[in-house]
Amino acid sequence: MTIAQKLSFDVQLSDHARTAAEREQVLANPGFGQIFTDHLVSIDYTEGQGWHDARLAPYEPLTLDPATAVFHYAQELFEGLKAYRQTNGSVVTFRPYANAARFNQSAARMAMPELPEETFVESLEQLVQADREWVPTTEGHSLYLRPFMIATQVGLGVNYPSRTYKYMVIASPAASYFTGGVKPVSVWLSTEYTRAAPGGTGFAKCGGNYAAAFVAQRQAVENGCDQVVWLDAAQHAYVEEMGGMNLFFVIGGKLVTPALTGTLLPGITRDSILALADDLGLEAEERLVSVEEWADGCASGEITEVFACGTAAVVTPVGSVKGADRSWTIGDGTPGPVTMRVREELLGIQYGARTDLHGWIHKV
Ligand code: PMP
Repeated sequence: MTIAQKLSFDVQLSDHARTAAEREQVLANPGFGQIFTDHLVSIDYTEGQGWHDARLAPYEPLTLDPATAVFHYAQELFEGLKAYRQTNGSVVTFRPYANAARFNQSAARMAMPELPEETFVESLEQLVQADREWVPTTEGHSLYLRPFMIATQVGLGVNYPSRTYKYMVIASPAASYFTGGVKPVSVWLSTEYTRAAPGGTGFAKCGGNYAAAFVAQRQAVENGCDQVVWLDAAQHAYVEEMGGMNLFFVIGGKLVTPALTGTLLPGITRDSILALADDLGLEAEERLVSVEEWADGCASGEITEVFACGTAAVVTPVGSVKGADRSWTIGDGTPGPVTMRVREELLGIQYGARTDLHGWIHKV
């Protein structure tokens, strides 16, 4: 249950913030998730007391007891979204309440406390306001925001969830995912490993899901592919999602995306594309998609395009597929028109070139 409580943030600005020249040097070539801004947000939670000590503070390392629960039992979750500098100079975030809602769905699954949605959104605003100059002006660049929560109780007891937690937000300037144009990715169908089983944590954005995925991502790279595609745990027959993105298929001109069965992350980009389909005059459907349908559909020409979508890469075409016993190309392996149209529409809303018909843009 979300407890309505209005927290006030204690604001302590850094006295060792990077100079404008130092910041510009980073922003000239930000990469992804390597360099962090001058501030962070921190809010603590104590069972019986609720959320307290909300603060905006200088970015600094954490000091934690080695027996802190998060290190042992991975009671942790996170979110990811971006702040964009729009063409008119406004700084905005995209659907932050959707991230707040997903954060709380993850929290419920991980036996962690929910954070009031207003507090989640305000925490982003506090950080983006303090580090506003870190929001890049270069087209396609953004400030990546990483809210997360960790279990902070000290002790190795495994019978009960932690009674104390820390929520934080950090921010890192991000370059466009694609340097040198949109390039289709190749994907590896993982049949040796599975990401999530029914009743598990697939729909939650918890670190454990990612820890368990690295071995398959490494296998994808060893097989000459860019990314892993996860299949359902029971039969390895149905397509679920990629390592950090959801998937869309263009089947007979229609947009089709794997249904949210509880074992895949409900992506906010995925949800936005389903809503945009109507604006673009496209039919959209959520249902199961099998590997067989994918391979056969590409062979017959029924499936013309496949793309991945997520906050980091927006919309990324998938060019080819490799499995243990079958490999194929999608269309002619180059980005298709539906993919590029969806991508342009979404980026247009995020950067302000398109009207925001859905009320997704949140001005900071
Ligand atoms: N699936 C996984 C496993 C992810 O990590 C992400 C990135 N958050 C996505 C899908 C896409 O989600 P979103 O569109 O909200 O970024």
